[in-house]
Amino acid sequence: MSLIDDPLSGNRNLSDPEVLIVGGGLAGLCCARRLHDAGRTFLILEGSDAAGGRARTDRHDGFLLDRGFQVLLTAYPEAKQFLDYKALQPKYFEPGALVRYRGKFHRFADPWRRPRHLLATALSPVASFGDKLRIARLRNRVGRGSLEQLYQRPAVTTLERLQEQGFSSRIIDHFFRPFLGGIFLEPELQTSSRMFEFVFRMFAEGDAALPAQGMGQMADQLVRSLPPDSVRINARVVQVAPDRVRLDNGDELPASHVVVACDGPNAGELMGSGFQRGTNGVTCFYFAASRPPVDEPILVLNGEGRGPVNNLCVPSQVAAAYAPAGRSLISATVLGVDANEQLDKLQADVLQQMKEWFGSEVDQWRHLKTYRIPGALPSQEPPALSPVVKPAVADNGLYLCGDYLDTASIQGAMISGRRAAEGILEVGVQTAAFPNGAK
Ligand SMILES: Cc1cc2nc3c(=O)[nH]c(=O)nc-3n(C[C@H](O)[C@H](O)[C@H](O)COP(=O)(O)OP(=O)(O)OC[C@H]3O[C@@H](n4cnc5c(N)ncnc54)[C@H](O)[C@@H]3O)c2cc1C
Repeated sequence: MSLIDDPLSGNRNLSDPEVLIVGGGLAGLCCARRLHDAGRTFLILEGSDAAGGRARTDRHDGFLLDRGFQVLLTAYPEAKQFLDYKALQPKYFEPGALVRYRGKFHRFADPWRRPRHLLATALSPVASFGDKLRIARLRNRVGRGSLEQLYQRPAVTTLERLQEQGFSSRIIDHFFRPFLGGIFLEPELQTSSRMFEFVFRMFAEGDAALPAQGMGQMADQLVRSLPPDSVRINARVVQVAPDRVRLDNGDELPASHVVVACDGPNAGELMGSGFQRGTNGVTCFYFAASRPPVDEPILVLNGEGRGPVNNLCVPSQVAAAYAPAGRSLISATVLGVDANEQLDKLQADVLQQMKEWFGSEVDQWRHLKTYRIPGALPSQEPPALSPVVKPAVADNGLYLCGDYLDTASIQGAMISGRRAAEGILEVGVQTAAFPNGAK
């Protein structure tokens, strides 16, 4: 709810921070970090019990559970700027994937990165020879020019772009649908081709990785780079104005600038109607096992198009700290969230599918935890994806950042945070009316 029409009830104290940042996810933290580097004062108000937002990691029974399976693409330009990769000790995935298709696992490797798998990939039944040449052309196409230029190419759906490029329905259904569907969290591939080309470029230019101690390490590192007490937790904001916010306990805090750094749905609540955008949901099941179902750090994709699990991974094969010694952590990702679906029934279906893939050893898996995340990612169908719009400040004077304003990714969250800070610092400030007409 907006405070704009409300009279200011308190006077500003000189010790008050200049900037209040509502939300301590990666966008809010990067906004804070940029302000801090410029010598400005700020306070992050985080509604939950810790910073990190959607990229948090929970400790559970000796395991590290990311809040939904996710990866850091090391080529993200903003992550390179904001994070100290050396301290994160990233652990890398094997490039490519194992694709479950016609009852077997087939290796689909990136021949540029793993020439030793060239033959296996060339023989893979998941794609035709022509498809493999088209991948080479695609790689070339998405690597050209700056990211800005890439975002300005005409946007169609990802499915349309793949079809336009001549890819066969075989590779679309058995590789791209589970691979990209697992990234966009929607298997219909209705996400903007700009997002697709951005992601494809990031995979081509770097590695998929997990920080050694979990994805939450990124936020922990950012928090540590800020002055002590920069983040006030359990501080839920219920109203915002360009010069103050109100917390759910009734406290009102003044500031020279306010940045709304929430996820799209919560930003919508604070900014008022007309702001809302759709989200893509996901359900992630974690299991413990005494031995890993795959013995390498690789993503496993469901290319068969049946069964609830879209992709599977053994995070402890990538980064050992994800599981206690002698144990393995398995994550199985189901796309979408159906509020009416019973979780225990879904879990039984997941295990049944896994038994088809890995046999009776699955009977020994122990369920650890399930994360059901309806608002995992902002949906980004064309023409809504707006990295070209990039507003940092709404026309009511509130600054905004969050992944819904850029590519739905760690990179998008970080760059939008930096952009909001630079708006306040008046470095290339961009004032824009909001997509969807929100004020
Ligand atoms: C399951 C899953 C898989 C993903 N996979 C990947 C991946 O592989 N690679 C990738 O790059 N990205 C991935 N992402 C996306 C990535 O995690 C997000 O894009 C990024 O973390 C978003 O950061 P943010 O700061 O924009 O939003 P958030 O992380 O949502 O942060 C917003 C913060 O605002 C707080 N907040 C909200 N309302 C209020 C309020 N009223 N008052 C105070 N605080 C408030 C929230 O508690 C939260 O901490 C994935 C996300 C999920 C959930």
